[in-house]
Amino acid sequence: MKAGLRLTGPRIAIYRIVTGEGVHPSAEEVYQMLSDEMPSLSRDTVYRTLGTFEEAGLVRKFPDGDGVFRYDGKMRFHHHFTCSRCRTIFDVGEDETGAVPVPETLRSRGTIESVRLEFRGVCLSCQTRGGKMTKERTINSGEI
Ligand SMILES: [Zn+2]
Ligand SMILES: [Zn+2]
Repeated sequence: MKAGLRLTGPRIAIYRIVTGEGVHPSAEEVYQMLSDEMPSLSRDTVYRTLGTFEEAGLVRKFPDGDGVFRYDGKMRFHHHFTCSRCRTIFDVGEDETGAVPVPETLRSRGTIESVRLEFRGVCLSCQTRGGKMTKERTINSGEI
């Protein structure tokens, strides 16, 4: 791990989860994933550790549009496609979108340094599942 953080068991485990390929877990989900394997781990430790990682620039925290903060360990610039049914967030590379045009009118308001897009829709597996709503899974799971 970079950033000069002391390596502890929980830190390593949490770091592994948030930097997994294509995952965007909430703090609560990280806690749930580790609570069996590390029964002594507290929610507080998970939240604080994620905060430490964010400050160190190892992860990015972002609201998912439903009021839940998610963590992204992929620090290379990318956009997101959020499924409005299962709440899965998929990475969308800049190579897929190309350069995103900035409206001329923004020039009078300031200098735009980057543009992050959020695509919303229904993912393929939800479409093939026949349109059942499975919304309840992660809503508000970030707030305890
Ligand atoms: Zn879906
Ligand atoms: Zn991402």
